[in-house]
Amino acid sequence: MLRSTLFACLLFLVACNQKDTEKQDIPQQDSALAESNFDFGTWITSNPNTSNEDYVKEFKRYKSGGIDEVLINTGTDPKELERLVPLAKAEGLQVHAWIMAMNRPGDSIALQHPDWYVVSRDGKSCFDTRPYVDYYQWLCPTREASRNHVLGLVEGLAKVEGIESVHLDYIRFPDIFLPIGLLPKYNLVQDEELAEFDFCYCDECINAFEKMHHKNPRDIENTAIDMEWKNFRLNAIKSVVDDAYKIVHRYNKRLTAAVFPYPEMADHMVRQRWDKWDIDEVYPMIYHGFYNEEIDWIGYATKQGVTDIESENIALNTGVYLPPFNSAEELKQAIVLAKENGAIGITFFDGNGLTDAYLQAIKEVKATLK
Ligand SMILES: [Zn+2]
Repeated sequence: MLRSTLFACLLFLVACNQKDTEKQDIPQQDSALAESNFDFGTWITSNPNTSNEDYVKEFKRYKSGGIDEVLINTGTDPKELERLVPLAKAEGLQVHAWIMAMNRPGDSIALQHPDWYVVSRDGKSCFDTRPYVDYYQWLCPTREASRNHVLGLVEGLAKVEGIESVHLDYIRFPDIFLPIGLLPKYNLVQDEELAEFDFCYCDECINAFEKMHHKNPRDIENTAIDMEWKNFRLNAIKSVVDDAYKIVHRYNKRLTAAVFPYPEMADHMVRQRWDKWDIDEVYPMIYHGFYNEEIDWIGYATKQGVTDIESENIALNTGVYLPPFNSAEELKQAIVLAKENGAIGITFFDGNGLTDAYLQAIKEVKATLK
């Protein structure tokens, strides 16, 4: 369960940039408009064996509980997405196509190309030596063939009619530092950057870096303090995102992503600097339980991200992880904190965790926002 939840780092998204425009032009209406635009979403993973009838029931239940959008992981299968989009839309839900981007467990095409996978500082390929868990099967963001493979999958989803966005998840490097709340479960101490969790030292990355900076990361004594090497990897991910942005916009879709709680934290833990990306909306996974934090931290982290992207025309939806909540009352607090700190919506991981009590709480808070 730990594996599927924790690392199931998922996903996200929504849409309007209206907020900023309204703020500038009609200040006195801002609050009312922003309130009515606050969206509620949930991440779900599709099951091809679940019938259309059962999905209709599930979508109806979300909608009547105040949910506005679903972010669906179909294992990057456009056909499954095509089946579900009309069902969800008929119930009044918006749909985002959630894709596991750089982490591609069981990807039958990628698995035919062992050289597409990231390589650790101790020289082991993620193709057969997986960090933390077996489903950590990460592709190199620098190598042309592997990044093009990911971008091709993004394009396949972008073509599906009726979706709002392609929602990137696992758009980062493997965790160089795990969330502190998870370490005991893995029996790990991480007080420095450990070689087995430090990527990518493949030939493509090394060569590209050397060309630019005239030094070889394999020879650097303390790679953790080499800022160019860190930045090279931040930029490698940014480059994949920026290309994905161009692709999805060609199909008149938007780009969204599930990201780490706020930019400095994302940079530190997974080499992800999402405030610098070309992207429409982010869904930071502000999962307080992973970090041994309290509910008010959801407001803190939301504010950090919102402040960093407010000049970038990027909107933020606060993502929360349901299991650590102790009550519907706590969930209500999280919703209010997300809203008060500038998020345009809140998204729940995941649909299975939305109990009747939680849906009732969502509905009640939503009524007070309008
Ligand atoms: Zn590489």
